[in-house]
Amino acid sequence: MKRERLTLINGTEIEAVPANLAKGRGNETRRLLATHDYLLRRKADGRFIAVSTDTRFRLLLRDGKTRHQCESFLGSNDFSESRNIKQVQAMLDFLGISQHYGDEHDLVLMPEPATLSFAGYDRYQRPLWMHDEAGQAWRTMQSAALQDGIRLEAISGYRGHAYQFGIFKRKMARGQSVQEILRVNAAPGYSEHHSGRAIDIGTPNEPPAEESFENTSAFAWLMEHAPDFGFRLSYPRDNRHDINYEPWHWYFAR
Ligand SMILES: [Zn+2]
Repeated sequence: MKRERLTLINGTEIEAVPANLAKGRGNETRRLLATHDYLLRRKADGRFIAVSTDTRFRLLLRDGKTRHQCESFLGSNDFSESRNIKQVQAMLDFLGISQHYGDEHDLVLMPEPATLSFAGYDRYQRPLWMHDEAGQAWRTMQSAALQDGIRLEAISGYRGHAYQFGIFKRKMARGQSVQEILRVNAAPGYSEHHSGRAIDIGTPNEPPAEESFENTSAFAWLMEHAPDFGFRLSYPRDNRHDINYEPWHWYFAR
């Protein structure tokens, strides 16, 4: 019998998402998801590359390199924090971002975790992935808010280094310089979202990630109660990181 799974397994090039939580496009993909335990996804671009059960896998993208990546991922979980940090350093080198970026902004390099836990669904009905304890704290806080008549919605939880790197590459392709992009996006490796402990929070009928969130009753509730659940506002006005005010962005620091 197929088991319900609620853990995302992180690898170097690939991540494994429980097949029961993945949405397939096309009948054939949906059938394969229904008959396997995991979907293997390429971290660089989110592309579906295989489905697997234990160490057996079936390629959705048929080429030698992908086969090799799947074999090494499934053969010996290839994730390690040192490899993960090496990868992000290569991204920073590619973008020409200085080794001193972290010191200059009082930001620390955030490795990705080896696993992430399902923490419910976000506003867009996508699975929300978070560090295990952070996800549990989020769900507890969300229920407590609801008891007080406040609806908190997740906008975004875990985001990997490759995702952040992708934002830079897309904006560069549209002609922006790295310096311009750094004014609104943290360098890959330095977003709190990489840790799985950060969450962008919204409330119904409010646009996501807008400063106007500070005028909602949801924000007032968070300011009063979020610390009780281990969450703190990372980027208040005039913060020491020189990052724009983000009333929606909370970090689980317990
Ligand atoms: Zn955020």
